Amino acid sequence: EDARARLAAAHPQSLARHRAAAAALPGGNTRAVLYYDPFPLTFTGGAGCRVTTLDGVEMVDLVSEYSAGLYGHSDPVIAAALKTAVDGGIALGAPNIVEARYAAALVDRFPGFERVRFCNSGTEANIMALSTARAVTGRGTIIAMAEGYHGGVLTFAHGGSELNLPFPFAFATYNDIAATRALIRERADDLAAVILEPMMGGGGCIPADREFLAMIREETRAAGALMILDEVMTSRLDYRGLHGAHGIAPDLLTMGKYLGGGASFGVFGGRAEIIDRFDPSRPGAFSHGGTFNNNVLSMSAGYAGFMNVLTEPAVAAMNDTGERLREGIAAALDRHGLAACVTGRGSLMNIHFVPGPITTPAPLDAADPRHLSLLHAELLLAGFHIAPRGMIALSLPFGDGDAAEFLAALDTILADHARHL
Ligand code: PLP
Repeated sequence: EDARARLAAAHPQSLARHRAAAAALPGGNTRAVLYYDPFPLTFTGGAGCRVTTLDGVEMVDLVSEYSAGLYGHSDPVIAAALKTAVDGGIALGAPNIVEARYAAALVDRFPGFERVRFCNSGTEANIMALSTARAVTGRGTIIAMAEGYHGGVLTFAHGGSELNLPFPFAFATYNDIAATRALIRERADDLAAVILEPMMGGGGCIPADREFLAMIREETRAAGALMILDEVMTSRLDYRGLHGAHGIAPDLLTMGKYLGGGASFGVFGGRAEIIDRFDPSRPGAFSHGGTFNNNVLSMSAGYAGFMNVLTEPAVAAMNDTGERLREGIAAALDRHGLAACVTGRGSLMNIHFVPGPITTPAPLDAADPRHLSLLHAELLLAGFHIAPRGMIALSLPFGDGDAAEFLAALDTILADHARHL
């Protein structure tokens, strides 16, 4: 409470903006995930891995737009690509050159993409993948992971949302090989697909065991169902995507986030035999619309970053920085004797106020939400922006020096509050 009050006192202009915005925007913003009590801070700008609040306070950004801000806030290659696109004319309403180049580059880099289709968000990519799976199999049921997140209308945390799409879902326990195998076999007759992330992102940065992924690959094939991997968040964890690192070949694969270079973006794809059914020159082709699917801003920013900035060494360096940061956080939690842990892989991680190791989401419910709330507020006061749920996503400009500053601040906060945590 005290930390929240100090935060409000330090950000009067954010508070005023929040109150004024609420007249037209319920809750003062358009994204549920960005809200926290008593009001979320407003950011007015950013450079590198730093952002500036409306009250002029600079912060190190460890949210990185929930992983979509991989390039940081001022990458010159992205800026130049956007300028070139704007100068060349936008909203062209025809196939363009960049979309074809980008499609070829994605197919070249990610083994799970033999063919791709662009869309506007990760949510849309997953809706398209699920609908495609139902259409090609002629079946209805979808198995998803309890506590998984695949988009605004595909959210399965805490029992799901009333706004979820009415697909007939059944839920499996992440990383539970025996129970999930049994569920797939039980539903085999009507099973269209199993959808999961190779690391649960929103579900708490819980990596899948390779054996769990391999079992799903094998069982879906045996059941005549499709395996859909959602790599909207995780594709950054390896140059070839996390499915590439694990050597798992899904039937359908979705990505998004950073691949738009900071602009809105989604892509779904997979085996040629399936995605070729979207070829509109074929009789009976699946129809796929979307005014902005190939918009030149997303295509240009995404392609430029992907080809010129996100090189193999850059991906490795970003994820290595993340591994070191996660080790540093784990050491700090240990040093202060807290019943807490940090999960994740590479540049994506999550602090949890429950003892580790965590391999499935259910034990996370035991955490006292006041602990994360306190840590989040104290970190904001110290100039570090992490997600209210304890998640951290790094950007390319974030270096070991930034990590050292963060770990020093974390250590001080944990020392000050150890008796409350
Ligand atoms: N899938 C996963 C795994 C995600 O983390 C997200 C976004 O957080 C989505 C899908 C939805 O993507 P978007 O927000 O672009 O609709």
